[in-house]
Amino acid sequence: MTMTSLAATAPAASSAAPFVTLRDVTKYFGAFQALDHVNLDVRRGERIVVCGPSGSGKSTLIRCINGLEQVKSGSITIDGTVLSGERRALIALRREVGMVFQHFNLFPHLTVLENCMLAPVQVRGQARPAARDIALAFLRKVRIEDQAEKYPAQLSGGQQQRVAIARALCMQPKIMLFDEPTSALDPEMVKEVLDTMVALAEEGMTMLVVTHEMGFARQVADRVIFMDRGCIVEEAPPATFFGAPRHERTRAFLARLL
Ligand code: ADP
Ligand code: MG
Repeated sequence: MTMTSLAATAPAASSAAPFVTLRDVTKYFGAFQALDHVNLDVRRGERIVVCGPSGSGKSTLIRCINGLEQVKSGSITIDGTVLSGERRALIALRREVGMVFQHFNLFPHLTVLENCMLAPVQVRGQARPAARDIALAFLRKVRIEDQAEKYPAQLSGGQQQRVAIARALCMQPKIMLFDEPTSALDPEMVKEVLDTMVALAEEGMTMLVVTHEMGFARQVADRVIFMDRGCIVEEAPPATFFGAPRHERTRAFLARLL
């Protein structure tokens, strides 16, 4: 499968200013600190895998980058724009940032095709025929074009997640955020979704992926990040991360995964 020209114009990973920058980001839910002075750069074309125990702040990190949560202090910059929580800026951000959730979050009352056309038509103001052509092209890329007229409930979990990926791609985002995209799937469906994500990575898409699929991390990640208790504890290229983790908490976490 090929993902044609998704990011053909993206410069090489290390050549430009970071696409996403987090500086000293903290996030509280009430008195509970979910993110503790997080610093992170995601360069264009870079693939980052985020792992860590349940409750360590992985989803919160992604939700802050997507503007779904507001940070308490620190700053998040995306493509040169500082996230301020201002509504217009958030709408602009959503066009650049694609998001795939654990539970697919497809609209149950819309067909696969309509799910993919909704945001391009309503948010981008695309004409329906153009939105339809683009939707069908991305559905073809995730190899599910033949299901276009079905409703989500008529599809398997793996198929629904591939539709969710296609739907996000229809907005032609500059970065794709994935929050445990395979952890709600039956084991036999994990591979079809990971294969789709690998193809996207090979196409040059900038990706930040929360996952415990360490085979995927080894195969595509430029860096693996380990979070614990709201902090980034360790980050390293996969060979170093898996071969010689520096921190005891990382070693304990990896030992539990095996
Ligand atoms: P992870 O994705 O790593 O499992 P989360 O980012 O979902 O962790 O959550 C980090 C911590 O923040 C957890 O302790 C969780 O209970 C808490 N948390 C997340 N969202 C909320 C919320 N909306 N209200 C209160 N606490 C929350
Ligand atoms: Mg989570």
